[in-house]
Amino acid sequence: MCDESRPGPVDFHCHLDLYQNMEAEYTRCEAARCLTLAVTTTPKAFARNAEMARNRRFVHAALGMHPQLVAQRASELSLFEELAPSTRYIGEVGLDAGRRFYPSFERQKLVFERVMALCARLGEKVISIHSIRTAKQVLDVIEKTGAHRTCVPVLHWFNASGAEIRHALELGCYFSVNEQMLLAPRGRNLLETIPIEQLLTETDAPFQSDKAPGDVHGAIRLIAKEHNLDDSAVEARIRRTATELLAE
Ligand SMILES: [Zn+2]
Repeated sequence: MCDESRPGPVDFHCHLDLYQNMEAEYTRCEAARCLTLAVTTTPKAFARNAEMARNRRFVHAALGMHPQLVAQRASELSLFEELAPSTRYIGEVGLDAGRRFYPSFERQKLVFERVMALCARLGEKVISIHSIRTAKQVLDVIEKTGAHRTCVPVLHWFNASGAEIRHALELGCYFSVNEQMLLAPRGRNLLETIPIEQLLTETDAPFQSDKAPGDVHGAIRLIAKEHNLDDSAVEARIRRTATELLAE
């Protein structure tokens, strides 16, 4: 019997392949029964992640093209397009208009639109999306390509205004949240606005300073407090959502 929905952590956005010993991280997440979406940053990295995830039940590898790497790696877009039909899981993709990456912004938009149009056409993808200083533009691309109609967009570390959060909800987006973002004022706003059924937890490890993959206790506690629920009830609810989204 399959018991993926049994309570346990959900890490819907982390980078296992950025650890020196990625296989150890895959093994650790699997042993902890952590439902994990292991995102990647370039199409070339996907094959070895898919290989590691192949015989694991709880860890899933996603095909990515990180906006911060588009300047150097846009040429891998054709590889992305070649691999996309082979997986349900896409990420990390998106846009980044932070100062460091703004020079490549126009190219990022071309790549992200191509990626989302392809996902919309193929359908049934779960897409983990980065949106630094680009909440509005990211939602516009989702809407314009129609990706929200055939796929599930999951907005990762979504730092946005109330109006943008409501727009994302109208499009049926899900949200993966981490402790660091929830401690900021906009994070609290996000928690007040989003129904618990559309929330997932993430670490974005190794990019959140003190979190290892799967370490979502802090985020669970904050969600539980906001909704006046036990940690275990929140954990179970999020586990159910993740199980449904990740089902093959
Ligand atoms: Zn990330």
